[in-house]
Amino acid sequence: LQIQTYIGRFAPSPTGPLHAGSLVAALASWLDARAHGGLWLVRVEDVDFTRNQPGAAQCILQQLADCGLQPDQPPVWQSQREALYQQALDQLVTSGRAYPCGCSRSDILALLGAQGRLLARGHEAVYPGTCRTGLHGRSPRSWRVRLPDDAAQPLRWSDRRLGAQSQVLSQEVGDFVLKRADGAWAYQLAVVVDDATQGVTDVVRGEDLAASTARQIALQRLLGLPTPRYLHTPLVRDAQGEKLSKHQGAAAFVGGAQSVQQALGVLGLDVRSNTLPELLAQAVQAWRDK
Ligand code: GLU
Repeated sequence: LQIQTYIGRFAPSPTGPLHAGSLVAALASWLDARAHGGLWLVRVEDVDFTRNQPGAAQCILQQLADCGLQPDQPPVWQSQREALYQQALDQLVTSGRAYPCGCSRSDILALLGAQGRLLARGHEAVYPGTCRTGLHGRSPRSWRVRLPDDAAQPLRWSDRRLGAQSQVLSQEVGDFVLKRADGAWAYQLAVVVDDATQGVTDVVRGEDLAASTARQIALQRLLGLPTPRYLHTPLVRDAQGEKLSKHQGAAAFVGGAQSVQQALGVLGLDVRSNTLPELLAQAVQAWRDK
């Protein structure tokens, strides 16, 4: 029996093809797994059925293959793993750590606005906790986590690239959604359940997801799951300094050695070769030496 000490993954949402930005995350997770002699898994994160694009998942898998990035196991699809998310939700409900919520988005915004404390973070408002004490006669819409008391203290974690990080969940996020009103499983819950179930030891992904990490660590603790190591990779920006959108970035994706070379540049790896296998082999070495 061989004990696997490193399991990494790339977890694309099939909302469109891979682009210059998502390739950086894919390549970094692959390089880190190879450099550690570990396993590299691919997980299609298709739980948000409102955002899935038909054919996008197959397209992404093909693009990865064209870049020489082959998963060590057949990809898994989140849409086939909903029983696992339900089990986790049940566990949280049983332990009093999740509750049904009857608030619509407009209810929440109206309440926060009236109280003059609209703490918007991105597009998410901090949930004021209305349904913590019960539904007050309303029908359940979504399910939320009941953050523990220590969520009023900074949750500290360390990123392999960004260093020390911290977030005060009760102030900056509030009791966040685990299952949406439309029945879709929330990314935060699905990702935590899957990373643990697949034995992922190292999460390597784009820096935009650093803001989700404290929520994920809080859920791991509530579910009694281990916390992996985290490494968030630089985002690719356009000429205006904005994060690349799938739309813009996809146009720039040509695939093969040229795309890989470009992504390696974003990762600060200066390796050059004319053939893709050689380029990747040198990149693994350069990643090890970094
Ligand atoms: N599915 C997420 C995305 O494409 C990434 C999830 C993760 O790597 O944790 O943005």
